[in-house]
Amino acid sequence: MRAWAVVENGKPLQEVEWPTPEPKGTEVLLEVTHCGVCHSDLHIWEGYYDLGGGKKMSLKDRGVVLPLAMGHEIVGRVVKLGPDATGVKPGDLRIVYPWLGCGTCEKCLAEEDNMCLVPRSLGVYANGGYGTHVIAPHPRHLVDPGKLDPAVAATYACSGITVFSAIKKAMPMPPDEPVVVVGAGGLGLNAIAILKAMGHRNIVVVDISAEKRAAALKAGASKVVDGTGEGTTKRIVEAAGGPVLAVIDLVNGTATARFAFDALRKGGKLIQVGLFGGELTVPLPLMAIRALTVQGSYVGNPKELRELVGLAQNGKLEALPVATVPQSQANDALMRLRDGKVTGRLVLKAEAA
Ligand SMILES: [Zn+2]
Ligand SMILES: [Zn+2]
Repeated sequence: MRAWAVVENGKPLQEVEWPTPEPKGTEVLLEVTHCGVCHSDLHIWEGYYDLGGGKKMSLKDRGVVLPLAMGHEIVGRVVKLGPDATGVKPGDLRIVYPWLGCGTCEKCLAEEDNMCLVPRSLGVYANGGYGTHVIAPHPRHLVDPGKLDPAVAATYACSGITVFSAIKKAMPMPPDEPVVVVGAGGLGLNAIAILKAMGHRNIVVVDISAEKRAAALKAGASKVVDGTGEGTTKRIVEAAGGPVLAVIDLVNGTATARFAFDALRKGGKLIQVGLFGGELTVPLPLMAIRALTVQGSYVGNPKELRELVGLAQNGKLEALPVATVPQSQANDALMRLRDGKVTGRLVLKAEAA
């Protein structure tokens, strides 16, 4: 097999030849047809996450070993099954759920692999979709995209379920109850599309960029709020008609967390998704008196991926703009993302796909 791998952090990806892995036990070998280029690939490539205040989280210290084929938004065609794998056959096209754990603990067996304490995520701790082949440890991690565009379906494995899982943590809510979404970039537009597909009708979107606020309105936001400077909480409360039950903070930096927390009503939830960095000081009596919840949300689980794909298959979910790039140009694609030259999502596509 070939891969376009991180050999050294921050250096160009290198095309490498590796032995094609042989599926063992319940494993399934797939030939990668599509793989999304995610913003978090840039952090993996650089080798660290910026935690704010000059602090960095090193990925090497967290167990990431090079060389590594990144890529966690994978669609591929089944090539070969391990002796204990059932439920798929060679030629089947499948989305590969990448947020794997140990595979044997209570969380993994309950299909909450992303909550496992031993992460083995594809494209992070194990080779992912920036290669011609990938191993899925178990057929239950494979989801049939049906008639969906595989380039769009690939993005459901990360950007899709990240937003979907956060929304699910805020739900159930009456469809006309305001939900506040902070950040109108790619994830924000995705959140609007998913909320609409779920039948939600009252979506208030906050962003500092007038251009992004206009894009949010075009995508179906009910109202938009300028998140610049002082008074954002007041503007959110005015736009929503009062303090709110749910804020999904896709930025999750010091400033956004503050105005988001301050906009909550009694019983309100702040769902924190972004990895912008920063800190939040919480007034403890208010947490108790107002029965507030601050909850983090990281990617999603296989059940949520199947549910999201179901929503898309029912035709309720608007497809986000994707552009495909030949797989062999993985490094160029990554650099375009780094340089901020990408609107929508770049998806690597195999020559044969
Ligand atoms: Zn991602
Ligand atoms: Zn586990």
